[in-house]
Amino acid sequence: MDFKTNQDTICAIATPVGEGGIGIIRISGPEAVGIAQQLFRPTTSTLSLKSHRLYHGWILDPSTRQRVDEVLLSYMAAPRTYTREDVVEINCHSGYAVLERILELAIRAGARLAEPGEFTRRAFLSGRIDLSQAEAIIDVIHARSEKSLALASRHLSGDLRDRILQWREVLLQFQALTEASIDFSEDLEDASSDSHLAISIQDLDKQVIAPLKELLDHFERGRVLREGITLVLVGKPNVGKSSLLNALLGKDRAIVTPVPGTTRDVIEETFLLSGILVRILDTAGIRHSPDEIESIGIERTLRSVEDADVVLWLMDQSRPLTEEDDTIYASISSSRHMLLLNKHDLPPAFSMEEAVEKYPSAAGAMELSALNSSDIERLREQLSESFLKQPLESCNATLISNLRQRDCLERAMDALLRGKELLLAGGYGELVTEEIHLARQQLESVLGWNEDEDLLDRIFSQFCIGK
Ligand code: GDP
Ligand code: ZN
Repeated sequence: MDFKTNQDTICAIATPVGEGGIGIIRISGPEAVGIAQQLFRPTTSTLSLKSHRLYHGWILDPSTRQRVDEVLLSYMAAPRTYTREDVVEINCHSGYAVLERILELAIRAGARLAEPGEFTRRAFLSGRIDLSQAEAIIDVIHARSEKSLALASRHLSGDLRDRILQWREVLLQFQALTEASIDFSEDLEDASSDSHLAISIQDLDKQVIAPLKELLDHFERGRVLREGITLVLVGKPNVGKSSLLNALLGKDRAIVTPVPGTTRDVIEETFLLSGILVRILDTAGIRHSPDEIESIGIERTLRSVEDADVVLWLMDQSRPLTEEDDTIYASISSSRHMLLLNKHDLPPAFSMEEAVEKYPSAAGAMELSALNSSDIERLREQLSESFLKQPLESCNATLISNLRQRDCLERAMDALLRGKELLLAGGYGELVTEEIHLARQQLESVLGWNEDEDLLDRIFSQFCIGK
């Protein structure tokens, strides 16, 4: 479907069903006012609706003249609206039956049920927002932590777009320069004697390549703010993994028992640490086992260790180290890990020094008791300090928030570096221009310029209906 030319009028329930005391039906498109006039009877005898006003009244079923619900209706005339089209919003008493009834009446009056994200897609197609902002709206809707919300809001304000437009401007100037040199290349004796061009290579470096590189380097931090980090708890049975998980979550999520091997499957939970979402997996122990169910659990453990940002290796300090600890060490030593010596309240069977000496890559070891709340607080601080400090520091910088944006920017970077190399090798002309052109196109792709329908479908289908 071509959304640009076929501007019919769409409608949807714009609020989550069953939540809050009020529900909103949003109608957008050329027929929005006409549809509203068919369904709505204002309390006062106003016949024509004025833009950006709120009206009190009733929704009537036009076929029966029956009152459906008492509502507040707002009308916003194009173009100062979310979609840049005429928009009518009907605020009614929530409850699914009422919302669905009004939606049905709007459809009967000539609107079409909106597809997921279609309102935002129209805002994008009308040029009100760029694609990085549309993606930010998805992020705001899906944001589960304070920090990911902050990141999304910054994108929504057009932070990334502003920088990209700046770089694009430099590339356009540069392109004009190199094109000029193609035209006059016969008059030039030596490319390097062209001082204009020499200056602009430096400009390209300083104004585009360097800041773009910095942005790409920070991608990982953006990912942490957006998606959070994943911790995996490993350790022998009965060392206190489930107890620690519960203490971090502050509730009784995993079953804690004095019998070894109870946590056979991988349990996943999330909690907030310094405003960042932390996924934590409690795993079955890593050990050789004849028990089939337990073996499956162990396999899953090994797989989650591979995916983890940080492995928390928990030991019971009141019991001696065994061969099993060597097995665990072998399977986690190539991952980023932290050693936790639990049950510090009991008499120790070995010291922290002994453990660190035996397993040297386990940096940042810490003694604690999972049953002691001030120890848990200390652990939270340590985790935040060790693994979240960098992402938190870059909280106010512009960041890339998804893979699509990163891929475009990486391709732009590759093209720029190829172009620069050609220039430094003394060559200029069409090849350079082509690379600069390619880089510019990739920058524009981040904003959704020249994007095809398939990509837009993929992005906007992540929205829910009504957004
Ligand atoms: P898991 O098998 O590693 O998940 O271990 P659990 O969390 O099920 O704990 C096994 C046993 O150790 C339970 O009886 C816990 O109450 C106990 N436990 C856990 N942490 C501590 C601790 O710090 N000190 C003491 N004394 N007991 C603990
Ligand atoms: Zn457990």
